[in-house]
Amino acid sequence: MATNITWHPSLSRSERAAYRGQRGLTLWFTGLSASGKSTVAVALEQHLLHLGVAAYRLDGDNVRFGLNKDLGFSDGDRAENIRRVAEVARLFADAAVVAIASFISPFRADRELARALHASHEHDADGPLPFVEVFVDVPLAVAEARDPKGLYRRARAGEVKHFTGIDSPYEPPENPDIVLRTDQASVEDCVAQVVRWLEDRGLIPAGKTPVADVPPAP
Ligand code: ADP
Repeated sequence: MATNITWHPSLSRSERAAYRGQRGLTLWFTGLSASGKSTVAVALEQHLLHLGVAAYRLDGDNVRFGLNKDLGFSDGDRAENIRRVAEVARLFADAAVVAIASFISPFRADRELARALHASHEHDADGPLPFVEVFVDVPLAVAEARDPKGLYRRARAGEVKHFTGIDSPYEPPENPDIVLRTDQASVEDCVAQVVRWLEDRGLIPAGKTPVADVPPAP
């Protein structure tokens, strides 16, 4: 661990938020594989961008191609995977972006660590960053019947070990901020549920109208 380091003060988060016209926060999606985390998170990211709200999605598989390519699926590596992603989400939120993390994140302790990282503000006069736990809740049987990547089939066949819900536990959130039942509500309704929740709490500006035409990239 580095010891000869000091924290360098920078612009305050409230200054950054004022310039950008929005606050940052982290939406933490958790749920079984194939519960619908990525599908809803992608649709939500697009919807927020369409409303003119900066958002960025951090995806379970995608970060393993880069930032976390040195990590596997042991309990220790899964915990480190979540810790790093939580730190990155926190940076995005600090930069006044809506960070959308979609990770199975099956262990309560790891999710609590992610929450705690957002709550700690040792170097930060602006206080804790909002951390919103979104439980994408479907019965295992539904997720297994969907099986878009064939992973449950392979886990049942013993070809994939430590698969969440099969031979590795999923610990459901005890007090999630939002519960999405993707077996009962459409993707659009799930997105609307999250947006309404954020608007009701003043975390994103209410009543923004969608950008009519997406301009070409500069
Ligand atoms: P995860 O990211 O949790 O592993 P995915 O989003 O990759 O899950 O897969 C979920 C699957 O469920 C997709 O094939 C998706 O089309 C399907 N699905 C059906 N209904 C819904 C819904 N209401 N919300 C999200 N996904 C849904």
